Amino acid sequence: MKITIEKADRSELKAKPDENNLGFGSYFSDHMFVMDYADGVWQNGVIKKYGDFSIDPAAMALHYGQAIFEGLKAYRGKDNQIHLFRPKDNLARFNRSARRMCMPEVDIDLVYGGIKKLLEIDQEWVPSALGATLYIRPTMIATEAALGVRPSKRYIFFTILSPVGAYYPEGFNPVKIFVTDKYVRAVRGGVGEAKTAGNYAASIMAAIEAQEQGFTQVLWLDACDRQSIEEVGTMNIFFVIGDELITPPLQGSILPGITRESVLTLTRDWGLKVVERPITIDEVFAANEQGQLKEVFGSGTAAIISPVGSLYYKGQECRINGSKTGELSQRLFDDLQAIQYGYKEDHHGWVETI
Ligand SMILES: *Cc1c(COP(=O)(O)O)cnc(C)c1O
Repeated sequence: MKITIEKADRSELKAKPDENNLGFGSYFSDHMFVMDYADGVWQNGVIKKYGDFSIDPAAMALHYGQAIFEGLKAYRGKDNQIHLFRPKDNLARFNRSARRMCMPEVDIDLVYGGIKKLLEIDQEWVPSALGATLYIRPTMIATEAALGVRPSKRYIFFTILSPVGAYYPEGFNPVKIFVTDKYVRAVRGGVGEAKTAGNYAASIMAAIEAQEQGFTQVLWLDACDRQSIEEVGTMNIFFVIGDELITPPLQGSILPGITRESVLTLTRDWGLKVVERPITIDEVFAANEQGQLKEVFGSGTAAIISPVGSLYYKGQECRINGSKTGELSQRLFDDLQAIQYGYKEDHHGWVETI
């Protein structure tokens, strides 16, 4: 399949938003990349003007939730080139999500080619302020018009682009996290390891209740024992206890973050003691009482690294490192950002330049 290009007229191009006031996910670029799946094949690949879709009210995604997505960023490097961070890992994960949701896989090289072309056409939308990026959102939804629970026979794949602001406009501030034992996000055997829309719908109520009490995010516990730590809203989580860096293992209910994997690789390169093992919330609070809990941080594409200043669980507060950013959190943030923007050498072949 060859991807057709239908550029918007100059007169139809949008005014660019103020780069210092982008927020997250509020603006969208001029073009989008779209393909259809029907009769068992992907077809009609096109890059065209950003705009509405027309879908049938019986489109199966709306009723039965076959909807998956990815999130990655384009960074404007110091050489003014556009950099992507491990983009093919996002597309491989997209295909794993597709398999789990009984949706068709995409051809990674073809989609990567389409995304690069889209970025080339909308390159002026990649911000230049450090920290500001162009967020890339590949998505697939089921569009066959039919009621009845089974895999759809038709899908739309699309990619849209959204310029987003620096996650830390006034610096790198530790967040307050609420540990919920009331709600759960996912369970082994479920769809927690897929980036599928329903996981986020399921998480909103807990997030709102936490925000009403002044917390930034929710930390999820294992759905069965309500003790083992899983992950935070849209981030994986890490603990420094004594001289060990610990993160929960991927056992089916946790999203396998690309930032998580990058943190594990860098810290192992640095010779730190790194373990993927189950860790309970009681262990974390006990380690804190013994003065052994040094740092806690989240990892994800949006924030890269998010230091955690305190955890609240069953009415108790666990304050970490005096609610200040830890040394390792800072080093990881600085190094990952420097690699993403091309200020620091990329020893792992993570960065693609377009
Ligand atoms: C996307 C996501 C992450 C982070 O993954 P990255 O690839 O590092 O961006 C973690 N948890 C959840 C639930 C997510 O949706």
